[in-house]
Amino acid sequence: SAQVIDGKKISDTIREEIKSEVASLLDKGVRPGLAVVLVGEDPASQVYVRNKAKACEDLGFYSEVHRLSAETTQEELLGLIGRLNEQESIHGILVQLPLPKHIEEKPVIDAISVAKDVDGFHPINVGNLMIGDDSLLPCTPAGCIELLKRTGNSAAGKHAVVIGRSNIVGKPISLLLLREHATVTICHSRTPNLAEVARSADILVAAVGVPKLVKRDWVKPGAVVLDVGINRLPDGKLCGDVDYEDVLETAGWITPVPRGVGPMTITMLMANTLKAAKKTHGIE
Ligand code: NAD
Repeated sequence: SAQVIDGKKISDTIREEIKSEVASLLDKGVRPGLAVVLVGEDPASQVYVRNKAKACEDLGFYSEVHRLSAETTQEELLGLIGRLNEQESIHGILVQLPLPKHIEEKPVIDAISVAKDVDGFHPINVGNLMIGDDSLLPCTPAGCIELLKRTGNSAAGKHAVVIGRSNIVGKPISLLLLREHATVTICHSRTPNLAEVARSADILVAAVGVPKLVKRDWVKPGAVVLDVGINRLPDGKLCGDVDYEDVLETAGWITPVPRGVGPMTITMLMANTLKAAKKTHGIE
């Protein structure tokens, strides 16, 4: 039976590490600061924003939550971002996605200062990830790599298969695995022989958004299975893109949903904000 990767526990450990770094930053007169911007009343987004503010409080960060009405114009939002870019107490800016339909995502992401782009979605940070330069990494992909490292699962020389090619998850995870010296195959909705490709993976990442897509016969015995999916079932329960019960006997390592990849995302956001604060103040 697979070893279960306890994302909650690993995330708690990293949070303790961040907390002690914050303490030593405070001694130098620096408090990491995060601004979270929420436009509109999307219920899931409200929960995410609340959790991010809570994490800031728990870790000793300064935080601001800007809750804007659903009628906010693109211009008003860009104005706020401009002010946050200039604000010294703020080292990280996160605009909660999705935005209401009348606001274009791209100009908003592009407006965030590269140094404060703690989501890692700005084209310059994406480009730096691509060429392997130091940058702020997207949180969920960075969290996946951290899970591998902290369970002693090196990616070097392994075949990693990523199902999903979104800009926020699939693509950046693939680039990070490549950086970790894996041989990477990226699959998506037009990949004809998905099960067969998945079965050749030493490390299988599912970032699809299809509940329980990955079955036992998609998994090579002993493979590391990282399930990024967060899907709500009709009964209200959460499930991943992997059929966890079905795959549990075959996989070598597996992340559950919840308590797998999920808890790592906000923790990596905190880590990015800390990193941005240190860089701004020339620390380390
Ligand atoms: P997305 O919809 O942007 O992308 C999904 C990708 O999967 C696409 O590239 C598509 O080509 C591919 N795909 C869709 N159906 C497929 C199929 N049947 N077979 C093969 N490939 C298929 O989604 P996303 O934003 O990348 O998110 C993916 C999942 O991860 C979702 O369940 C989302 O909720 C979850 N997610 C979790 C976190 C977290 O914090 N753990 C963060 C972001 C997203």
